[in-house]
Amino acid sequence: MFCFYIENRKRFGNQQVVHLKSCDLLPEKTGRTKLGFFNDFQELQAQHDPADVFMIACTYCCKSLQIKTDQRITSREN
Ligand SMILES: [Zn+2]
Repeated sequence: MFCFYIENRKRFGNQQVVHLKSCDLLPEKTGRTKLGFFNDFQELQAQHDPADVFMIACTYCCKSLQIKTDQRITSREN
């Protein structure tokens, strides 16, 4: 299980980036919300209402989980 956080800041309208607790790119406490513990990003997405917010896996930390998704942030968006 991994502890996931979501950035409070929205990108491109309704998209928010999800990080692991250990990620160097994780915002400070005021800029993030704890989502809880999940086995991987897919499980997190499955338990989340997609109508609420569109979640994107952080390529920096979630890459280490070998997450397969085409919803990644490109390096240009740093
Ligand atoms: Zn991250």
